[in-house]
Amino acid sequence: MRRRQLGLVGLGVLAGCQGWRAAEVNPDVVVVGAGLAGLTAAYNLAQRGVRVRVLEGSDRLGGRVWTQAQGGQPVELGGEFIDGEHRQVQQLVRALGLSLVPVQTPGRMGFFFGGQQYTAAQVTEQVRPIWQRVRRDYQRLPERERDFPQDALTRQLDRASITDYLDRLGVRGWVRRYLEIQCQTEFGLEVGNQSALNLIFWLAEAGAEPEEEAPRYRIAGGNSRLINRLAAKLTGQIEVNWQVEAVRAVGQGYRLSGGGKELRAQAVVLAVPLTRLRRMELGIGLSPAQQRAVHTWGYGTNGKVVMQTGRAFWRTQGYSGETITDGGYQYSWAHGERGLTFFLGGQAGLQLPTGQVGLAVMQKYMGSTAPITAETQVAWGREPWALGSYTCFQPGQWTTLAGALTQPVGRVWFAGEHTGGEWQGYMEGAVRSGQRVAQALGRG
Ligand SMILES: Cc1cc2nc3c(=O)[nH]c(=O)nc-3n(C[C@H](O)[C@H](O)[C@H](O)COP(=O)(O)OP(=O)(O)OC[C@H]3O[C@@H](n4cnc5c(N)ncnc54)[C@H](O)[C@@H]3O)c2cc1C
Repeated sequence: MRRRQLGLVGLGVLAGCQGWRAAEVNPDVVVVGAGLAGLTAAYNLAQRGVRVRVLEGSDRLGGRVWTQAQGGQPVELGGEFIDGEHRQVQQLVRALGLSLVPVQTPGRMGFFFGGQQYTAAQVTEQVRPIWQRVRRDYQRLPERERDFPQDALTRQLDRASITDYLDRLGVRGWVRRYLEIQCQTEFGLEVGNQSALNLIFWLAEAGAEPEEEAPRYRIAGGNSRLINRLAAKLTGQIEVNWQVEAVRAVGQGYRLSGGGKELRAQAVVLAVPLTRLRRMELGIGLSPAQQRAVHTWGYGTNGKVVMQTGRAFWRTQGYSGETITDGGYQYSWAHGERGLTFFLGGQAGLQLPTGQVGLAVMQKYMGSTAPITAETQVAWGREPWALGSYTCFQPGQWTTLAGALTQPVGRVWFAGEHTGGEWQGYMEGAVRSGQRVAQALGRG
């Protein structure tokens, strides 16, 4: 009965014919990767009564969600903010008995470019005419095809890099650096290596005013609590240190192997970043479009420098801690009582500065600083289990890759932020992808 609900009817019988091990040893579905997407998929499948097993290559659950304690405060080394419109992740947080804390950092934002300090009003004044031109291009794009755009204009804009596009608009000076740093931190790659559509969609929707922030939240106690709650619902079904190196179609099912271990399943959910998937041997019959997506999709190289300082020196100067600069770091924000994070993208995200270097830049503009009492860095482009921060469309990739991995190949589904559509790159995308896959497996 359970299998009928799943649409997996008959596979158990065929499995026996193919010489599979006893059904009670093998799960119906193997999920590869215990990040937010994989755990959400497994949780939803387990709720439907599916025998599911999660294989995690590292010795830690959560992947790019990673909370650590720093000076007694939870700090986020990976995914941090949950936007007001990120409804599915919010719902999951509440369903698992956790709560959300609104991000409130009163004070003004700092804009430090080329040795000068600018106000939000000056930024708005410089950005507005550029925003108006970008908005015109944006409005010419077909309304319904923004997620999977295919028309000639979209293709043309997609083929250009952000650098090409800003050249075409004749944007120069510090406002150009401001827009470049925004895109580099937001999407993760150097602007010469990003599709112009990244800038167009972001700026057209964000508007010209830099301080117009929508409500944002963190999970009380740290985002890893969501991971822990999901894992607690999957007792005995998760294995760590199980690196999947190959997935092959065998008969009506699949054989997964790695590190001398082997497991068979009737269906597989691949919930690892493409940077890792492209290193796997995949004998599952990927289509040419899927091959292209797996092997070429760009990834940001964002990194974080997360610190505790002796005192929130920025607050005494009336700053919120949120700053953007072309100096020694790119973006900063405050957290907790005295915490500060530097967030960098592109090459700079791979070669992170020390916290001290960033604080020296702040001191120059703010006139004071404080000692660092704790510091942790993660360059996600070098983090072995991620090899990137999140997907970032390179020139030409919006119109050729978007949506390529939302369909399964046989009984292998893809989950992860990269399959999150509109929510790609966010925890919301990871959660939605896990839910989508569980629902599809349920339908069979
Ligand atoms: C610096 C940074 C800042 C971010 N900020 C935000 C933010 O503010 N808001 C937001 O919403 N999102 C943010 N994100 C994005 C968010 O964290 C991710 O989109 C999301 O966590 C991705 O989840 P996932 O399950 O798709 O992938 P992952 O979390 O990467 O999970 C994949 C899992 O697969 C495992 N794995 C890899 N290879 C194998 C293998 N061969 N065999 C078995 N297991 C394997 C990995 O160890 C990992 O546990 C940020 C990300 C980064 C890096």
